[in-house]
Amino acid sequence: MKAKEWTENEFKKLKSLANKKTIRELSEIFGVTKGQLQYKLKKEKIIKKRTLWCKHRWTKGELKKLKNIINDYTNKQLAKIFNVTEVMLIYKLRQEKIKRTSNIKPVKIMWRVDKKTGCWICTSHTKSVDRPIFTRGKKVFSIVRVMYEKEKGKIPKGMVIRHTCDRKDCINPSHMVLGHPKDNHKIYFEKLKKKGLI
Ligand SMILES: [Zn+2]
Repeated sequence: MKAKEWTENEFKKLKSLANKKTIRELSEIFGVTKGQLQYKLKKEKIIKKRTLWCKHRWTKGELKKLKNIINDYTNKQLAKIFNVTEVMLIYKLRQEKIKRTSNIKPVKIMWRVDKKTGCWICTSHTKSVDRPIFTRGKKVFSIVRVMYEKEKGKIPKGMVIRHTCDRKDCINPSHMVLGHPKDNHKIYFEKLKKKGLI
């Protein structure tokens, strides 16, 4: 591969970023391979301090705990728990190949039971006019889907949850069935027909 011509500005930038970014990040910033970047650092005698990454010595117990609770907390919270920075945490997760299997953290969901219908009417998340929702970061999650997955397992991609009780704010998993988005129209018209409206 052709050697990269480093401009004065790029070189300055490299020097200032060398200890703030990982090799991978740096190579992406400057559009070079990791090898090329390391060669440049060596040539210019820029020493990348590694203290940032290994300041925390992870014990076996901590790693085990990290693996166990990974799904229950955000990176920010995990960093707090283990008293490390978020960067250090993410680095460790990558190094140990620890991945989240769920991006939903437990939420306190409360409901009241409608004695007549058996519906669980969500009382903790009532702000949304449609189905009850909660947000994590910028993501929005449906409590209906969360409750379904807790009870019956993962919802296949592209599938939707339908209510057999017709209440959008009901979060009783036994009132939920899996459906295809296309079915909704059909069912809607069937209901109208039943009611004699069409
Ligand atoms: Zn219901």
